Amino acid sequence: MPKPQIKPTLNTDKPNVPIMIPYARQSIDESDIEAVVDTLRGALITTGPLVDRFENAIREFTGTKHAVAVANGTAALHAAMSAANIQPGDEVIVPTLTFLASANCVVYQGGTPVFADVDPDTLLVDPADVERKITSKTKAVIAVDYAGQPCDYKRLRDVAAQHGLVLVADAAHSLGADLDGGHVGTLANLTTLSFHPVKHITTGEGGMVLCDDETTAQTIRRFRHHGIDADHHLRSEKGQWHYQMTELGYNYRVTDFQCALGLSQLKKLPNWLQRRREIAARYDEEFSNLPQVSPLKTNDRVNHAYHLYVVRVPAEDRKRLFSFLREKDVGVNVHYIPVHLQPFHQKRFGCSEGLCPNAERVYQTIISLPMFPGLRDDEFARVVALIKGFFT
Ligand SMILES: *Cc1c(COP(=O)(O)O)cnc(C)c1O
Repeated sequence: MPKPQIKPTLNTDKPNVPIMIPYARQSIDESDIEAVVDTLRGALITTGPLVDRFENAIREFTGTKHAVAVANGTAALHAAMSAANIQPGDEVIVPTLTFLASANCVVYQGGTPVFADVDPDTLLVDPADVERKITSKTKAVIAVDYAGQPCDYKRLRDVAAQHGLVLVADAAHSLGADLDGGHVGTLANLTTLSFHPVKHITTGEGGMVLCDDETTAQTIRRFRHHGIDADHHLRSEKGQWHYQMTELGYNYRVTDFQCALGLSQLKKLPNWLQRRREIAARYDEEFSNLPQVSPLKTNDRVNHAYHLYVVRVPAEDRKRLFSFLREKDVGVNVHYIPVHLQPFHQKRFGCSEGLCPNAERVYQTIISLPMFPGLRDDEFARVVALIKGFFT
């Protein structure tokens, strides 16, 4: 039987030259490259001064008190679960419509992810379903700011406070967003970021944990570095070489050249957010008279960061539209397959179809269109024309 043809998204003759308009893509310019190269010429290329500078810049940008840079967004979530003291037997409520890492981080700690359903119009976790899924074993809730729109943290904070739960914001999609004037990074007990190339700013791979509590930040710094406590008092007493490991940690550090890239990228973030919002407004307008295509609802209490631009189309058209756009070199995607439908989670935790009906239904209809600051007007026009052509 012939293998099904799957169109490549990268040109293999010229690696890194895309042949498609992707759904997301990093913007790297000469100033970013110079910043990285400068750092490579320095004495310290990891655990050096650029790490602190990048952390401080994110603290200033988000208004959070503490920031700890780590190897990637998944490591940031793992660190958050460790800081929340998640242990075997503990339950953590996670929306099912998210990237795998939001749930897997619970499993790394031996905990059980309990999947909550989403609002079918915003695809944000439904606080009422979170409340329904709380048991005596629940220790934390992870909210995911799907597509770049902050969840209803006001309600989630109330629910968490009432039941003594740690509230974690997986803000991999929402750096630069606000809710009721409060910045992402200040809306939950712990906030995690990702700097993967598809996200708002990139360090290649990278992530960060944000929090307002000094002790928690120190715990996360130890977690990032093998659980080592850099106690200077002990060093002067027992010898300069002394270090002690107080708990199990990992090597989740980032390099200085990655942080140099992050710092350089962060300077451009305000303009990029503006461009993302402009693209979203133009898509909204283009689709306002196309009944088959409905953008997600946005809450008027938020300032959206638009990591993704997701539309819903009739379920019977989704697969055909997806193939049609891929065939025309538009790199659309689907975010996400509900996590509770994954074989691993079904086998390990016994979850099955029917657990989160809204997410299961809406998953059949969603498609993510190109959304990134470097998207050119002619590319935007091509995407819109193809979709309108498909439906008319
Ligand atoms: C990207 C992403 C992550 C993981 O980030 P990495 O840096 O790729 O490890 C976690 N959660 C969500 C919602 C994401 O989109």
